[in-house]
Amino acid sequence: MDIEISMKIKNYINGEYVNPISDNWIDNYNPSIGEVYGQLPDSNSQDVEIAYKAAEAAFRGWSETTLDERSKILSKIAKLIIAKLPELAMAEAKDNGKPVRVAKSIDIPRASANFQFFANAITQFASEAHESVGQNAINFTLRQPIGVVGCISPWNLPLYLFTWKIAPAIAAGNCVVAKPSEITPMTAYLLGEILTEAGLPKGVLNIIHGLGTTTGQAIVEHPNIKAISFTGGTKTGAHIAKVAAPMFKKLSLELGGKNPAIIFSDCDYNEMLQTTVRSSFANQGQICLCGSRIFVEASLYQKFKTDFIAAVSKLKVGSPFNNNTDIGALVSKTHLNKVKSYIDKAEQYGGNVIFGGNIVSVHDSEDGYYLEPTIIEVDDNSCILNQDEIFGPIVTIMSFNDENEVLAMANDVNYGLSATLWTNDLKRTMRVSKQLEVGIVWVNTWLLRDLRTPFGGVKSSGVGREGGFEALRFFTEPKNICIKYN
Ligand code: NAD
Repeated sequence: MDIEISMKIKNYINGEYVNPISDNWIDNYNPSIGEVYGQLPDSNSQDVEIAYKAAEAAFRGWSETTLDERSKILSKIAKLIIAKLPELAMAEAKDNGKPVRVAKSIDIPRASANFQFFANAITQFASEAHESVGQNAINFTLRQPIGVVGCISPWNLPLYLFTWKIAPAIAAGNCVVAKPSEITPMTAYLLGEILTEAGLPKGVLNIIHGLGTTTGQAIVEHPNIKAISFTGGTKTGAHIAKVAAPMFKKLSLELGGKNPAIIFSDCDYNEMLQTTVRSSFANQGQICLCGSRIFVEASLYQKFKTDFIAAVSKLKVGSPFNNNTDIGALVSKTHLNKVKSYIDKAEQYGGNVIFGGNIVSVHDSEDGYYLEPTIIEVDDNSCILNQDEIFGPIVTIMSFNDENEVLAMANDVNYGLSATLWTNDLKRTMRVSKQLEVGIVWVNTWLLRDLRTPFGGVKSSGVGREGGFEALRFFTEPKNICIKYN
């Protein structure tokens, strides 16, 4: 695994690394220094077609492979990811700008866990039978793999989210044409050699690189790719839904978020404070689940504001390769500019920057895309700062007076991915959790993940659920078989 050299990433089709047909390439940036360090294929519909054909040819064999054999191969992939953890973590940090410490402890272990989890889950996945009593008939449900499916993933947690889709897809017996984000293609590229080493049959998983509007679009438009699992922005998700709907494709859409963190004065204060720093700024605030709107009960507000500023001021912005770094580089110059524009217009949008807000110049990495963690105080939830998904190291804080008021504000947004609730009142926990318009509620914690649970959002945060058997249900077609027996 050589990730040091300036290199051309290739497509992984039918078990081989290949160049794009057009021989067109896209520059790949290292955001920590703001420099191009390699290139990736600018694949087009011809490349997608070749990948599709490889997947189609592999489908019959793979779908008939025993569950035990599939499970063993997925486990092997999981083990090889762990064996190559240091190289993969370095590659992720270089490609994405995230601290290598984070890639080592979160991204890469989770990519491995995704394969291991579905290696186990597929051996436990069962379907239902219904005896039609009095009619001498039994109905049972076959859950068959769909065929060739498309998986498209974003840049914020590159290998973590890429594998979260492809592991259940192949575990369920499908073959895949997958596209990682063109902004962070490196670890998906490196996965190719792991798949080969693990003995995954050729064509089962094909990894194509390129732009969303060409490569991604070609996957979504392909008439025989029958299901699309997509994670990314809400606008892109809406576009994909529009393209896929007339072809009646199965769709799973995991989209943006603007998640509330709701803090009541009866919470465990120190734990809340520590976790809220993390839920605000982990991965430079570039996690769809980050709590970007913080609502604090009025009686606690001033204390929280003071302590939160003090805690955030201790976060170190710096090179992803420095072990003391808490906040690395943002993923791209375009993204940095977008995030910064919200800070520059904060006042106009009704906010007051009370901490941070500046671009940071990091020694020896002066052209990298660094931004201070930023806290903006607002007093109206309808302001743009509380309504747009900014997806960077920015949070807003505001106070509330009672439960009904904060519930109304938490729900008054287009998104509905997750919410975090801090309270020790059990009755309130249940009342508020039931009324929050989101797919996931964390109470007195954040981002505690059990891979068996349904994962996804409502409203503009998406359609469908990933995780556990939900993912295996998505990647299979149920067929009812009714047998009359007299
Ligand atoms: P994006 O929508 O720009 O891109 C996501 C992927 O879609 C990329 O691979 C891109 O190339 C591809 N794509 C773009 N246009 C396409 C098209 N027309 N057809 C097919 N594919 C296309 O999103 P991004 O900027 O990479 O990621 C950030 C967004 O992802 C944020 O909104 C974030 O909230 C969201 N996200 C959601 C979750 C979740 O689980 N709900 C997780 C992580 C990120």
